[in-house]
Amino acid sequence: MIDLSSLTIKKAHDHLMKGDFTAVDLAKTYLAQIEKKNKDINAYLEVFADVLEQAAVADKRIAEGKSTLLTGIPLAIKDNILIEGRHAGSASKILEGYIATYDATAIKKLKAAGAVFLGRTNMDEFAMGGSNENSAYGPVHNPHDEARVSGGSSGGSAASVAMNGALAALGSDTGGSVRQPASFCGVVGLKPSYGRISRNGLMAMGSSLDQIGPITKNVEDSEILYSFLKGNDPMDSTTLPDKINSTATDEKMKSGKKLTIGVPMHLMKEGVDADVLKNYNEAIERYKSLGYEIKEVTLPNSGYALAVYYVLMPAEASSNLARFDGIKYGMHVDGENLIDDYVQTRTAGFGKEVRRRIILGNYILSAGYYDAYYNKANLVSELIRSDYEKAFEEVDLILTPTSPLPAFKIGEKLADPLQMYLADIFTVTANLTSMPAISLPSGVVMKEGKSLPLGVQLTAPLYREDLLFTVGKDFLNEKV
Ligand code: GLN
Repeated sequence: MIDLSSLTIKKAHDHLMKGDFTAVDLAKTYLAQIEKKNKDINAYLEVFADVLEQAAVADKRIAEGKSTLLTGIPLAIKDNILIEGRHAGSASKILEGYIATYDATAIKKLKAAGAVFLGRTNMDEFAMGGSNENSAYGPVHNPHDEARVSGGSSGGSAASVAMNGALAALGSDTGGSVRQPASFCGVVGLKPSYGRISRNGLMAMGSSLDQIGPITKNVEDSEILYSFLKGNDPMDSTTLPDKINSTATDEKMKSGKKLTIGVPMHLMKEGVDADVLKNYNEAIERYKSLGYEIKEVTLPNSGYALAVYYVLMPAEASSNLARFDGIKYGMHVDGENLIDDYVQTRTAGFGKEVRRRIILGNYILSAGYYDAYYNKANLVSELIRSDYEKAFEEVDLILTPTSPLPAFKIGEKLADPLQMYLADIFTVTANLTSMPAISLPSGVVMKEGKSLPLGVQLTAPLYREDLLFTVGKDFLNEKV
């Protein structure tokens, strides 16, 4: 029997190389676990029928001595990332019947490395949400307490890893959708710097904010997946070559000095759960005991981050989602004329939250309000970025909780979208500033007899994912 609970990408790779088990054995073990768990968790929308064939191809490659670290590694893929010839639906009814005509660049890279795709994971419809309750196919249940949400929008991806139904997964993060479900489910979630991983083949929500990110069991696996996924892509003009200018931080690291972590204590006020705050303070203590210097920082414009995000994101989303007109992709409902076709299809195909954001986004972009909202939000976003840049003159990384709350109950916040939006307070800034951030499991809190995971978030300067990995491994006591 393969023990899935302690398996990581690195360990599975070593076992595959030594011949302790084959990729087919490994895939079978995951399929059995999915069979056992998925009916209660609802993490997968589809488990692919050809998993064992994919694994057999990986075994052949291993036998030929041509494997990579990812050959034969079983992964789960969020339902908004295209895999050629397979259904991709963003957990929306409007895309029912849509088959992807090409591979996302991230998928192409994983295929080239020999990874095995187990299936596509549940999500908030079009990645709008923070609880996975906006899926057209039902919520994802948290594997740690099935009465609670998994977080979102990549809830299916995070839950698939947490329930040992995948070794790792891909999610997408526009305002926290990789990091927040990772923290609710007790796993690691990375949002890379904007432009690090190609968005080609990722269904666009907020194009200036979206990034694909890995969800894994430890930091080392996150680093492994990231190293395969990153890089310049001619299909996405916002991607960048991999180049880092050496900074004062590098000098410190070279001389063996520990880094300085900034803590914005002024953000830890009302709205932050007492258990989350306690856990955050413990994380600070842990870093102190590891020899890091802790320094208080101020981010004066952070109070505007949520307002800015919830102006920019719906604006961009409303324009991106205009392509779902009932003609080009998926569902079509016949109306009395062409305009009526659009109206009927979009009314039947989109869920409540998606319609809410389209209406909001169109209002924000309308001729009369564009300057007042969209342009203003962009200006304030610049201020938020400059706060971070200033803070990074004094500290090497910034630590906050990932979410102000542990996983909440399914249904608890559905009636009040504003309450739901407030839960994104710590995550949206990394998307607004384009900076990389990682959520690390930081312990548990007992609620009603169940132990719920909590997470802390490290943010680094632009393109410094390497710092997140080094300092993240330290926190989780992974050998560096
Ligand atoms: N919870 C945020 C929202 O609802 C983040 C979504 C995301 O990152 N895709 O927009």
